[in-house]
Amino acid sequence: MVEGVDEMLEAMRTQLDAAETSMELDAARIFWIGRKGRLTAAMKSLGDLPEADRRDQGQRLNQVRRRFEGWLEERQRVLKAREERLQLESEAVDMTLPGRGPTAARLHPVTRVSRLLEEVFLRMGFALTRGPEVETEWYNFEALNVPKDHPARAMQDSFFVDLPGLVMRTQTSPMQIRAMEVAEAKTPLRIISTGRVYRRDEDATHVPMFTQLEALAIDDNLGLADLKGTLVTMVGEIFGARTRLRLRPSYFPFTEPSLEVDISCVVCGGAGCRTCKDGWLEILGSGMVHPRVLKNGGYDPHKVNGFALGMGVERVAMLLYGFDDIRLLYQNDLGFLQGFGDVIPSSRTVEEGRSS
Ligand SMILES: [Zn+2]
Repeated sequence: MVEGVDEMLEAMRTQLDAAETSMELDAARIFWIGRKGRLTAAMKSLGDLPEADRRDQGQRLNQVRRRFEGWLEERQRVLKAREERLQLESEAVDMTLPGRGPTAARLHPVTRVSRLLEEVFLRMGFALTRGPEVETEWYNFEALNVPKDHPARAMQDSFFVDLPGLVMRTQTSPMQIRAMEVAEAKTPLRIISTGRVYRRDEDATHVPMFTQLEALAIDDNLGLADLKGTLVTMVGEIFGARTRLRLRPSYFPFTEPSLEVDISCVVCGGAGCRTCKDGWLEILGSGMVHPRVLKNGGYDPHKVNGFALGMGVERVAMLLYGFDDIRLLYQNDLGFLQGFGDVIPSSRTVEEGRSS
């Protein structure tokens, strides 16, 4: 039997008015005029009616269908307009909100460690100097007692500039001579110099451009004990007070005697591991300033003496932060570099905690 047309219309209206989303509206459409919908079923059942009623009832059901479709369309318009308004509101830009700044800038790990080292030396009374990265061969080699035939001066080791007599400095040591000249042979002289140096070298532990820290002290009665005291202070401040020091005789053209300095491994504490192999890590070269170098700087080697040391800042950064490929520092991978943002070397944290 076909249900009452009025009841059907009322139920349709109620259902359409209650629909709050296009999905609910679609459900109402399927419920009434879908393939198995109630109105569809009523129209299909017309065939069961007596001939006389069929035409009459058929017209009424068609009217119901038209009205339903009209209402449906109207409700669709209302819902669509509402959805558009909501979307606009959610995407609206509030011009009065405070702006979002760029991600906080961070210092490159090498800059960080350079400053860390500089602070330690500044506290010990050293003054910070900076020197040119394009140097004369005199300052970079000869004044430092590096003779013409020294392997460091070969084409495969240095970057020479197209102007004769100039080279990209291979070390920060030229600043020793420059500082001595500025000091005009006055003592005491205590300077450090940090900066970029250049060598034709590249593998997991070498890059063509790296950073050195140089320290020079000149006075009338300095000895290896003063050098050692400076090293112990510096190593303790940077790597922690429990770090041990090992001095080995070595050779550098600009110092005599020369010492290679090792520290007990910061990874294993000296027991031996993959990083250190035998418990020790080489971190810098040092020695008493060669008399010829003092003379080249304008000092009288019979009246004064001095010590000097030089180290690679990247090497210290790698040890403090714990990675073993120096090239990572210069690949401009922000993810990697920012990972070291606020890391305080763990050995320092431990020792600072201990002393407080
Ligand atoms: Zn180790």
